[in-house]
Formats: sequence, structure tokens, C-alpha cells
Amino acid sequence: MLNEKYLKKGFNTRSLHVGNYPDPATGAVSPPIFQTSTYAQSSPGVHRGYEYTRTHNPTRSRLEECLAALENAKHCVVTSSGMSAEMLVLMAMPKGSTILCGDDVYGGTYRLFTTVYNDDFNFVFTDTSKTEETLKKIDELKPSLIWIESPTNPLLKLSDIKTIAAKAKEVGAFTAVDNTFMSPYFQNPLNLGADISYHSMSKYINGHSDVVAGAIMLNDDELAQKIHKLQNSIGPSQSPFDSWLVLRGVKTLGIRMKQHEKNAFEIARFLEQHPKVERVVYPGLESHPHHQIAKEQMSGYGGMITFFIKGGLDGARTFLENVDLFVLAESLGGVESLIESPAIMTHASIPKAEREKIGLSDNLIRVSVGIEEVEDLIEDMKHAFDKV
Ligand SMILES: *Cc1c(COP(=O)(O)O)cnc(C)c1O
Repeated sequence: MLNEKYLKKGFNTRSLHVGNYPDPATGAVSPPIFQTSTYAQSSPGVHRGYEYTRTHNPTRSRLEECLAALENAKHCVVTSSGMSAEMLVLMAMPKGSTILCGDDVYGGTYRLFTTVYNDDFNFVFTDTSKTEETLKKIDELKPSLIWIESPTNPLLKLSDIKTIAAKAKEVGAFTAVDNTFMSPYFQNPLNLGADISYHSMSKYINGHSDVVAGAIMLNDDELAQKIHKLQNSIGPSQSPFDSWLVLRGVKTLGIRMKQHEKNAFEIARFLEQHPKVERVVYPGLESHPHHQIAKEQMSGYGGMITFFIKGGLDGARTFLENVDLFVLAESLGGVESLIESPAIMTHASIPKAEREKIGLSDNLIRVSVGIEEVEDLIEDMKHAFDKV
């Protein structure tokens, strides 16, 4: 029941009306949660498009319609987590092929590649924010897939998606972009030439820190079919209830992202002039090494900030123990502000030597700026800095 008339409308109109139409049977404005595993057939093999929820579910289909419209994609596959979305993308690639991957990717991605799929693919890690080097590696290695995270987590490095995806096409490789940090509101990798844009929807898309979910957006019919088949065969499908929660969360994605960014900008400027801060990384700041590419390929700078506090690990620990409004927790992208130490928490699975090589030092603090009143957040940080 795709309502085509909304597909060309503005972002917030699409997030509210594509997939979020009233229930045709009852008129219920909030879509029903089809909490069912199976579907009645009128005659053997005669059904209404739904046979079993691992394969299809009407609540999940609504979410897939909505997300595809937000990323300007032809297809969307909603999965049980961001990691299972990554698994499905990998499994759609030819076994034994080379995968060229960013060297500063999400810790769980690094773990999946190096400890689960290390025998199935030849992974080569490189700094994809260095465009020339990356293009050379693509020519040399002829990979089946280029795996980009932009911005990266937590160093917020940006890669030139358009240039890399164009080169990938030349050698017949797919380009996949982890778009979790920007959400479809600020970045559309498919519009830049990527083949796959995927998300951990546990973060901004759902936005309320109450669901683990993933999504894969793509245009290629054959690849989409392959990924859907894999999902059906392996089983990492999203549950109806969680699909419904994300369908509700995504309605406010646009206004949330706007507020996340507004707050993040003010906090980044506050941190930049604070005497106990060594360095602030935020793509919206002129001082960000990839600020120019940020302006070109994103329509905003997001709500994630990374900063290096003076005083090493002890300084970081004291600061994190003394913030009050910022919840000390892993994850990001929720309406409430979260803060963490990647070295001890989210990125502990990366060996220390490897962490230091890529600049992920112990005094680094990652902030997921929420949508609280920014004055209160700054006040909270001031108080914690006083204790350091
Ligand atoms: C959280 C996250 C993932 C993994 O997603 P889950 O939903 O936790 O499985 C992948 N990439 C990035 C950038 C993330 O932040």
C-alpha cells in the first residue's frame, strides 16, 4: 500500500506519511502491531503476500517502506540489529573475495570481521579518509566490497563517498556505507553513488534507546533480493513490536536531528575554548580536518562530539564520574545525552596497540549530545571539569 504521492515530499512529511498511513481495515491512525508468526491461507498456497513473519510482516513492511523513502532507496531490509545487517551484507559477497574496510570502524564491526568472518574473506584495513591511497588500493586489490564508515566512530573522520564509490564501480566493487551517525536526515550515501547504506537503527533512527535494530537500504534489485533471501534463510528479521517502535520513533527523526545538531554545535564551541580540553573533534567546526568534505556530502553535522581531555585516563575517568545529566553508557543517538570512554567501553575489543595506532587514546571522550536544554548540559560539563 505504498502511497506514492508522498515520495517526493519533504523529509518530515515522508517520515510521517510513508508507511505510517491509517489502518485500512479500521481507520486506526496508529498502525497496528501485527504480532503474528503465521497467516491464514484461503486455499493451499493462496495468501495475501504474507506466509510467515521471518519472511514478511506487515508492520515491518511499513517500516521498510518508510525508510526506503527517507534514503531515496528502492529497497529496504529491516533486520534484528545493526550487526545482523552487516552480516547479511557480508554474506551476499563472494566467499574468498577481498573486502577493503576503513581502519576506524565501529568496534563490533572490527570484531565481526576479524574474529567471525576472517576465514571467509580477505579483509584489508585502510584509512578511507585518505582518498588517493584508497583509490590506489581499490585498483590494486580489486575488492568485491568497499566498507566505509563516515563519519567514523569515535574519531569522526570523513571519507569522500562520491569519489570512492565511483572508483569502486570501475572495478566492479560494491560500496557500503555505515550511515548510522548521520541518519538519513543528514546524509544519503545512495545519492552519492554508494550501493548500500546501512544503519544501526538502535541509534538515531529509533532514537529512544529502547530498541536494537538494523536496516539495509539499496537500489540494486538483484542484491536486494539476495539479501532478503539470506535474511529469510538465516533468520535475523526484526520483530513486529520492535518494528512498530522504530516506526513510531522515526516520525520525529527530522526534528530530533535538528536539535541534536544545534546542541552539539554549542557544546563543541564550549569545549573548544575550555582550558582543560586538548582538542575537540566535530565535523561542523572549521578546525575539523575534513570540514570541507562534510559541507559537500552532508546536509548537517550531527550530534556526536569527540574530545581529548587533559590529564590522561585519570582525567577522563574523573570527568565521566562527575557528569550528572550525561548518562555514562555505551551506545548513542538517543534523545538523552550519553557519554563514554571508547578505550574502556565501546572500543575495548580493539587491542591497545591497534587503538593507539589510529589515535584512539585513553583521554578521548565520546559524547552523544541529546535534545535536553543545552544550557543545562553545559552547566553539567562545567561542574565535572571543576573536579578534574
Ligand atoms: C551501534 C553501531 C553498530 C551496530 O549496531 P547494533 O544495532 O548495536 O547491532 C554498527 N555501526 C555503528 C556505527 C554503530 O554505532
